[in-house]
Amino acid sequence: MPAFEPVIGLEIHAQLLTATKIFCGCSARFGAEPNTALCPVCLGLPGALPVLNRRAVELATRAALAMGCEVHPRSIFARKNYFYPDLPKGYQISQYDQPLATGGAMVFTAGGRAVRVGLTRIHMEEDAGKSLHEGYADSARSTHLDFNRAGVPLIEIVTEPDLRSAADAAEAFSRVREVLVAIGVNDGNMEEGSLRCDANVSVRPEGQRAFGVKTELKNLNSFRHVKNALEFEIDRHVKARQEGTPIVQETRLFDPATGRTTVMRTKEEADDYRYFPEPDLPPLVVDAAWIESIRRVLPELPEARRVRFAAQYQLPDYDAGVLTQSMALADYFERVAAAAGNAKAASNWVMGELTRKLNETRGAIEQAPLAPDALGELIALIDKGSITGPVAKEVFEKMYASGRRAAEIVDAEGLARIDDPAAIDRTVSEVLAAHAATVAEYRGGKTKSFGFLVGQVMKATAGKADPARVNEAVRRYLGDPSGPRT
Ligand SMILES: [Zn+2]
Repeated sequence: MPAFEPVIGLEIHAQLLTATKIFCGCSARFGAEPNTALCPVCLGLPGALPVLNRRAVELATRAALAMGCEVHPRSIFARKNYFYPDLPKGYQISQYDQPLATGGAMVFTAGGRAVRVGLTRIHMEEDAGKSLHEGYADSARSTHLDFNRAGVPLIEIVTEPDLRSAADAAEAFSRVREVLVAIGVNDGNMEEGSLRCDANVSVRPEGQRAFGVKTELKNLNSFRHVKNALEFEIDRHVKARQEGTPIVQETRLFDPATGRTTVMRTKEEADDYRYFPEPDLPPLVVDAAWIESIRRVLPELPEARRVRFAAQYQLPDYDAGVLTQSMALADYFERVAAAAGNAKAASNWVMGELTRKLNETRGAIEQAPLAPDALGELIALIDKGSITGPVAKEVFEKMYASGRRAAEIVDAEGLARIDDPAAIDRTVSEVLAAHAATVAEYRGGKTKSFGFLVGQVMKATAGKADPARVNEAVRRYLGDPSGPRT
């Protein structure tokens, strides 16, 4: 029996972060009362005329440029005709044979391998309304319709069938999301449906070039669903091939509760939609200078930043990955590193104490009450030996709560590191004298007591004594009975 290779392509729908809809001035905001953001245009009333939202074109262009696509100077809106209760016009305005952008690719590393997913196209279209099947007194027998989403601008990103595993497909979706969020095109909110993924999958015997019959999995709204749905579906295809059962080209839905996919409808062909150019909209013409002006202000993308962080700051890949999860976090880290003059320490503090504190307060990095240069100053104080590690954590808490600077807190509260050998010797003698029994145990061979005794001395100095000197002084005391006693 030959081994089978999965062939996967994605179709990702992303709502554009515009204030208003794509062809009218209605609000595109999520969460309004049902059917309150409507007008004759997005309701599809006869005679209403669409006017294209310039900002939507700008955001779609930005996404296309970020993913390396060619943005075409002229593209055409087309009517995609089909009936669905949440589609009041009876057609969706989309782009068909002349989309806004073609080509491009997502390139990333996953598990140490380089993965490249070519993009077929990025086109613009309008979203449909929403059918509400739950939450109403008569939901058992009626479906309610909310048209607020009808006309919200979307891009559809269609990839080439370049993916060869469910895990890579989920990773590719996650990388697309990361880019769209980083460039401010989409909010990445899959729960609210502003980012959705369909996947096309087939299998073929390894070494064969021709594709198998594909099925389409609709509306996968999390990375895990993409992975689980594809794993189930690949398995189903392989079993069918092994048993000689034909695979039907169809659209299927994934049920996260059972982990299975079921038939939604048999696949329609493009012919079924009777596409034709939208007569109410002129061709979309974008000039080269405008495209360049959008390209010029693209920020550094997360994958590039990850690579730069590892190289420029000598950070482990893990750190570079965590710190570039959001643009704001990466920006914050870079400012801490600059102020601290110690990138690895900056990374540890941002990923450690700062993230812990933000999680505790459910705060976002954008609202962190601690300025990055202030955290950098704290790290510099530790590096200079002005304060100890334990004291630094205490100072950090105080900075976070009060907004005061590190040096000010250290001065005002007498938290500077104690380096004076005589003072340290004195404390060691006092503390060890008070723990004579433990000292005796240590001398009797229980070497584990050493750490406890050092801990007691540090505690007696409220963590301020130089730990290296304390260590040395305790060792001296224990090793030499005539040592530093007062
Ligand atoms: Zn409207």
